[in-house]
Amino acid sequence: MDLLNTLVDKGLRRELPTRDEALAVLATSEDELLDVVAAAGRVRRHWFGRRVKLNYLVNLKSGLCPEDCSYCSQRLGSRAEILKYTWIKAEEATEAARAGVAGGAKRVCLVASGRGPTDRDVDRVSRTISAIKEENADVEVCACLGLLSDGQADRLREAGADAYNHNLNTSEATYGDICTTHDYADRVSTVRQAQAAGMSACSGLIAGMGESDADLVDVVFALRELDPDSVPVNFLIPFEGTPLEAEWNLTPSRALRILAMVRFVCPDVEVRLAGGREVQLRSMQPLALHLANSVFLGDYLTSEGQEGRADLEMIADAGFEVEGSGTGTLPTHRADALAAAGGCGPLAGGGCGSHEEGQGCGPCGGASAGDTGTAEAGTHTAEAGTAAAGDTGAAAAVPGRGERTGAAAGAESRADNGARADLVSVRRRGAGTELPPNA
Ligand code: SF4
Repeated sequence: MDLLNTLVDKGLRRELPTRDEALAVLATSEDELLDVVAAAGRVRRHWFGRRVKLNYLVNLKSGLCPEDCSYCSQRLGSRAEILKYTWIKAEEATEAARAGVAGGAKRVCLVASGRGPTDRDVDRVSRTISAIKEENADVEVCACLGLLSDGQADRLREAGADAYNHNLNTSEATYGDICTTHDYADRVSTVRQAQAAGMSACSGLIAGMGESDADLVDVVFALRELDPDSVPVNFLIPFEGTPLEAEWNLTPSRALRILAMVRFVCPDVEVRLAGGREVQLRSMQPLALHLANSVFLGDYLTSEGQEGRADLEMIADAGFEVEGSGTGTLPTHRADALAAAGGCGPLAGGGCGSHEEGQGCGPCGGASAGDTGTAEAGTHTAEAGTAAAGDTGAAAAVPGRGERTGAAAGAESRADNGARADLVSVRRRGAGTELPPNA
């Protein structure tokens, strides 16, 4: 197929495909799907081999957000019954991060709901970053705290943050359809502030919100121009109690085509399979590893992922290997560019020693994985009403994944409102609870 040969050649040269070529990938037929995966897989292997980087989310503050991102379970007015709690202590966050690192995670993503941090919030998160780095200097720490104000990116970097996540989520033309309390330009500005501070930028998208193929291509081309080092691809988790609860628009095949298009347009970046992979790719998840070189391990911000052990088995069964802490994720030219921009630490080709005493160098999105990269809710995530932090009695009483009851027990249980409680499971363990995290 001429299209795929052209895209592979361009991907190996880091050459930007045309918009028509990107659109053509999304329009391929079911008969062509495996050819598309194989072609994009060649580009993936050229830049990242068969390595899979593991990332681990810690939700520092969950729910009660004043913003109205329609995909987010933590939004203003959300009726989703997620965990809601204010800032957890640095020790609790470190303990949660420890579980992720023990499970093989190279990066810990510290996420908090809200429009953006206050300077006091930046101080809190800085203490958490220092505590995590003190325990394991090789762990990459990414912050995802929403829109940044002047000087906050520099302070996070000085505290040791390696990266900052803020997703573009969707095209500029449709941004107003998914959120009215901030705009697309605010998001672009925050990503640029992170880059200017020498942090590795992480910015991605959420697919499945009713967007057109042209919108998807628009946001991916915008990401290519913004040039983040990592691009989380979230698939909407239609969370009951949010405006998008009935938006089950994706099929596993379409999710794979979207990932392939992202790989062709952003060939040498860390493409992360983020929130929604379990519910939207379902049994096709292993094929997505041929396209993405990075995944979240375990649970998301407000919803549960598959068991961490199942993630590791899936990676091994598909013939891939977990990327070790001694191996750089980014291709050399990207690691060098990051170092030249002032970055240091694991991403920029090794530590510079400045993280001792809390000094250092330093994401978010809200699809339930928050803005970090997941789409369970955006740049950040949340719910309405039940267990607050420490309210473990209530939390423990809620059935976990695989223990669904009543209407949720069927093979496909679609509620009157279109929600799929059989597929989407609210997180009731890990950060903000007394139950061990899933990692
Ligand atoms: S995505 Fe972030 S900013 Fe938007 S509603 Fe969710 S927590 Fe708030």
